[in-house]
Order: sequence, then C-alpha cells, then structure tokens
Amino acid sequence: MIEVIYLLNSGFLLRTGNIVLVFDAFDDPAGVLPKFIAEECYERLYFLASHAHFDHFSPMIAAYAPETTRYILSDDIRQHSGAAQMPPNKTSWIGIYDRWQDDRITVTSFSSTDEGTSFLVETDGRRIFHAGDFNWWDWTGDTERNRKLAENGFRKQMKQIAGQTFDLAFFPVDGRLETSMERGVRVFCAETDTKALVSMHSVGYPAWQPSVGFFNEGQEIPVWSPRIAGERYSF
Ligand SMILES: [Zn+2]
Repeated sequence: MIEVIYLLNSGFLLRTGNIVLVFDAFDDPAGVLPKFIAEECYERLYFLASHAHFDHFSPMIAAYAPETTRYILSDDIRQHSGAAQMPPNKTSWIGIYDRWQDDRITVTSFSSTDEGTSFLVETDGRRIFHAGDFNWWDWTGDTERNRKLAENGFRKQMKQIAGQTFDLAFFPVDGRLETSMERGVRVFCAETDTKALVSMHSVGYPAWQPSVGFFNEGQEIPVWSPRIAGERYSF
C-alpha cells in the first residue's frame, strides 16, 4: 500500500513501508508534517524539491532536519535565498538527468519544461514519479508560436520518459489552462505505463475528473484529485 497525504499545490507526503517521501512541500496549512513526523513510525524520511519556485520549495522544510535522512533538492534551488538554511551535511543537490541513491531509495531526475527537474523515486519495490512543473503548458490565450514551442518542449521531454512503468505518478492538471488542462496528463498517461495517478498544481479549482474518453476502454486507473490540505488517499 502507498499512503499519500496532500499538503498543498504539488506538495505531498507519501509513505510506502517504512519509507516516507515528501515532495515539493512549500506550505503545510493543515499541519500534516509536524504531526506525522512526530507521531508516526518510519525508518527513513526524505524531502525532495523539484525547483526553486515559491510554490514548490520553502526552507521551512529545514525545520525537520533532526528527523530527516536526506534532502534531495534540484540544483537551481542553490540560488534561492533559503538555500543557506538547508543543513549542508544532509542536503544533496541533483541536476537534470542525474541520480542519487542510498541503500533504500534511488532518485533519477529528468528535465522539466519549466525550471528544475521531475523525479522518479524507486523504493520499497515501487516506482513513483513526481512531475514537478513538467507539463504541456498550453496557455490558451498565448500566441500560436508560443503554444507550438510549449508543445514541442513537452513532447521532446516526454520522449525521455515514454515507456516507463510507474506505480504512482503525480502530474499537473492546472485549472488555469482551461480547455487545455488535460493535454499534458493525457499524453503522459498514454505514453507511460502509469498504474495510479494523482493530479496536482490546481489550487482553487474544482477537483479534476478525467473527461470521457480520457482512458482507452478497459485501461482506466485510479485517479485522485485532492482539494483540501490534509486529505488522504491510499493506493
Ligand atoms: Zn509550479
């Protein structure tokens, strides 16, 4: 079983076996982290951050340094004013198409269509993907040229991920993209073997439901679109 708790935006706490992963925690309005970290049983706790944007990284995660096994942070976060607050002896910086591992987890990074990286984490026999801000950012009001550039950038990067199997994937389905909000996740689901999906990066918008025909018949997978900080789901 994989247990997931929604923090906010693209921020999630995930537990599989005795391993706890926290992705892109920049805010925690429901107070999930202090409670979980103090009260739950686990062996290892890892924080990962995909890039330096305010809605993905905050040095507030340094507050959990005593309990943290490792902070695995995208290289671009080094330039963030909060980087100095991260404990140097527990922080690893990861580039694009890079790898970090210890005896329990392997983290592989991919390029994003925005800043920083997306992550594949292999742990406890699972393969978990967190997209960061990797997406087909098709802004409907933008120029044709820019929209084509966004598509090309997305498809180019998608080639690096196509064919991979993920037990669980976190992917942006951003309400601001309006009629284009599903474009990226649809290609992602079609070109990877993703077994369960969490949508993210859509604060303030209604919970997303895949549209009719999103999945080919017989290929539906569990989808969770959390809205309220602190919501939980098990896969
Ligand atoms: Zn973002």
